[in-house]
Amino acid sequence: MSRTPTADVLVVGGGIIGLVTAWRAAQRGCVTAVVDPEPGGGAAQVAAGMLAAVTELHHGEQTLLGLNLASARRYPDFVAELTELTGHDLGYRRCGTLAVALDTDDRAHLRELHALQARSGLESHWLSGRECRRLEPMLAPCVRGGLRVDGDHQIDPRRLSAALVAACERAGVVFHRAWAERLSVTGGRASGVVTGDGTALAAGQVVLAGGSLSGRLAGVPEHVLPPVRPVKGQVLRLTVPPRYAPFLHRTVRAVVRGSQVYLVPRENGELVVGATSEELGWDTTVTAGGVYELLRDAHELVPGITELPLTETRAGLRPGSPDNAPLLGPTELDGLLLATGHYRNGVLLTPVTGDALAHALTTGELPAEARPFTPRRFRAAALLEQPA
Ligand SMILES: Cc1cc2nc3c(=O)[nH]c(=O)nc-3n(C[C@H](O)[C@H](O)[C@H](O)COP(=O)(O)OP(=O)(O)OC[C@H]3O[C@@H](n4cnc5c(N)ncnc54)[C@H](O)[C@@H]3O)c2cc1C
Repeated sequence: MSRTPTADVLVVGGGIIGLVTAWRAAQRGCVTAVVDPEPGGGAAQVAAGMLAAVTELHHGEQTLLGLNLASARRYPDFVAELTELTGHDLGYRRCGTLAVALDTDDRAHLRELHALQARSGLESHWLSGRECRRLEPMLAPCVRGGLRVDGDHQIDPRRLSAALVAACERAGVVFHRAWAERLSVTGGRASGVVTGDGTALAAGQVVLAGGSLSGRLAGVPEHVLPPVRPVKGQVLRLTVPPRYAPFLHRTVRAVVRGSQVYLVPRENGELVVGATSEELGWDTTVTAGGVYELLRDAHELVPGITELPLTETRAGLRPGSPDNAPLLGPTELDGLLLATGHYRNGVLLTPVTGDALAHALTTGELPAEARPFTPRRFRAAALLEQPA
């Protein structure tokens, strides 16, 4: 078996979460490597890039809200640092979000969300249908009201990925373009991986950041395997010709017949319409039904979209976890850490994840804000459920 030099930190998975972890670890002086056949790929190639801590608030997710807000607060400095370092424009747009209701049921749902946001100390403003249309004239006349959330912004996740690859390269991170087939465990401690071609990559610590595939790495002991599953999302990309610009000024979203639909307008004319949410394993087929539903719901919200060229259809996999929150930091196997399970907020959570993992890799402890997201919470819950 061939051997390559030892790294302090080996990150399995070069999606945005693995990349930010590698970059931050290298900045703290760790000799760092990433193993992924296609670093910079993954779900970020599909994601809309909403940074939606406030509009994505759900009942029972108050702990996650704290982490989401902590990450949202870091975003301006994070973007400035990455841009200065790499020269990449990340498409970060501080444009705010408008969540609207199309009928009485939707309005009741949105009123409920508004009350939850207020109880959680979050800022959002209730608007009448007319006020919504004044902000966004392309909205359908039937809009019954909405919530203006000035703090929920957006970034282009494809550009973010590319900038993170460049930042890693500048920080001296080594890329192994291969699949990690198996985790190596030596003396009860994670000690590296073996890749598809039989190369052994040795490391002092291993971070498993394989997105929706994180639960499938051979060699990880059963009780440490992350309970992560793929949640498929289909997304469309349309283009706003200059003669229609600005088509929308901010992200516009709604729940239509129980399904979320959103339109995210980029400065370069791209308009992202998403997303389905399907539990279908690792299937990433774009279906006629998925495209139809997205276009139907988006058209109800903004009828003028039918004039726009449809330029791309794509499906990706969100790494879902049992409580919709990420798994961060050390596991019960010495030397193995997790950075996975970011589900529908992975783009938003990128800055805080990088900081939390770099802290854990260099001190052995998670910072206070990330401690509720220890992977050990699922092990503890499983032990409690076992019959006495
Ligand atoms: C349709 C859709 C819309 C979304 N919209 C938003 C949004 O608006 N806002 C937001 O914040 N988030 C959004 N997300 C979520 C976000 O994209 C994800 O949470 C995030 O990209 C996950 O990043 P990751 O690096 O953990 O995983 P991934 O992107 O899945 O990357 C994992 C990487 O690991 C590699 N890998 C896996 N196993 C191995 C192995 N054994 N060996 C080597 N490499 C391996 C893969 O090749 C891949 O490159 C959306 C996701 C989808 C699908």
